[in-house]
Amino acid sequence: MNTNPLTPEVLSVLERLSTINRGFFTFEEGMKLFEEASLAMAGGSGYAIEVGSYCGTSTAFLGFAAKATDGFVVSVDHHLGSEENGPSWESFDQSLYDRERSTINTLSRFRSLIYSLSLDEYVAPITASTRVATNFLRDRADFIFIDGGHGEEVAFNDYFSYAPLVRRGGVLAIHDVFEDPTKGGRPPFEIYTRAVTSEQFTHVTNLGSLYFLRRR
Ligand code: MG
Repeated sequence: MNTNPLTPEVLSVLERLSTINRGFFTFEEGMKLFEEASLAMAGGSGYAIEVGSYCGTSTAFLGFAAKATDGFVVSVDHHLGSEENGPSWESFDQSLYDRERSTINTLSRFRSLIYSLSLDEYVAPITASTRVATNFLRDRADFIFIDGGHGEEVAFNDYFSYAPLVRRGGVLAIHDVFEDPTKGGRPPFEIYTRAVTSEQFTHVTNLGSLYFLRRR
């Protein structure tokens, strides 16, 4: 392992990040993601995949895990936002809206964040759909983080496409898993349940709605 890249300066930037990017991903969740990803990457080839980059908050924590382990993160997103980021939703962010094309565009905010944290060497953004990306992402990863769209079809498609890419002993993380349906949408919880009942994954730990499973 390299020296810990989470210096006090980096930590204070990361602490501010979650607020800037509307608190979809908290600092505590980020630190947990960093910890679990670092462990999995140090025990393998140092390769992680993130599904759903959005503005890059969680990517930053994964990027520092890659830096700590001399690894790299591939972060996949079409960068057009998910259904729940659309204009009629509570989570809509006006500043990400491209009026001319009537769509969300998160790529430039994502890129500037990764650049400002000097993580370019450790984070490879892929602007593609799940179908296209999984056509060429064939190697097994140590750590895969699914944090994409919450629609049923999208979530299950991400799960069926990426879960097989976790190496044996590697870790699958899923965000926004709410056992209580009043706290959040069902699909992330349903794919988590699918994973544990598939007998291919076992529950490791969770922090709030951020769940970690190990591939058998
Ligand atoms: Mg999320």
